[in-house]
Amino acid sequence: MTPALDDVLDRLVRDVEDWPEPGVLFRDVTPLLADPPALRVTVERLTELSSELADGPVDKVVGIEARGFILAVPVALALGAGFVPARKAGKLPATTHQVSYDLEYGSATLEMHTDALVPGERVVVLDDVLATGGTMAAVDELVAATGAEVVGNVTMLEIGPLGGRSRLPVGRFGTLRTY
Ligand code: AMP
Repeated sequence: MTPALDDVLDRLVRDVEDWPEPGVLFRDVTPLLADPPALRVTVERLTELSSELADGPVDKVVGIEARGFILAVPVALALGAGFVPARKAGKLPATTHQVSYDLEYGSATLEMHTDALVPGERVVVLDDVLATGGTMAAVDELVAATGAEVVGNVTMLEIGPLGGRSRLPVGRFGTLRTY
């Protein structure tokens, strides 16, 4: 039986207070990833949402290190698309585009290979959680630097009060659950 998605997310996303630093309520998706029916329904819904937002073919799914990788690969397979990693600084071996940005906690730099996407490709960007939106907006910049087009920004969860979706174009963001 397919479990109801909202129940799955409420039951299997674990709240960890004050991690990785005081004042942050961390949404830990690892219990959900470890549960086969929950993982299946989550990937199915992320795939459907990506398709709806794209409203057409998807060439690549960009996953954001690290939890975005886990979700982006099965979604890419289901969409008939390829997978591209957006990684933390210093991890990718070939020539990269780079962007630095602020996080809910601290700051970071992300990179993507310059040849990972080609102009005109239609791209969905996928991550586990949208918080301030800085990470997603940064990856949108990396995609734009290649000449490809972001057709969807998708997350499992959104932390609504942080307002991250306002940093993304209207109508391009989709999420499975807003807290
Ligand atoms: P942001 O750039 O603020 O939208 O942060 C999103 C990125 O940081 C995602 O890659 C998340 O995995 C991670 N993140 C930020 N805040 C949280 C949180 N409260 N719980 C879980 N992950 C978070």
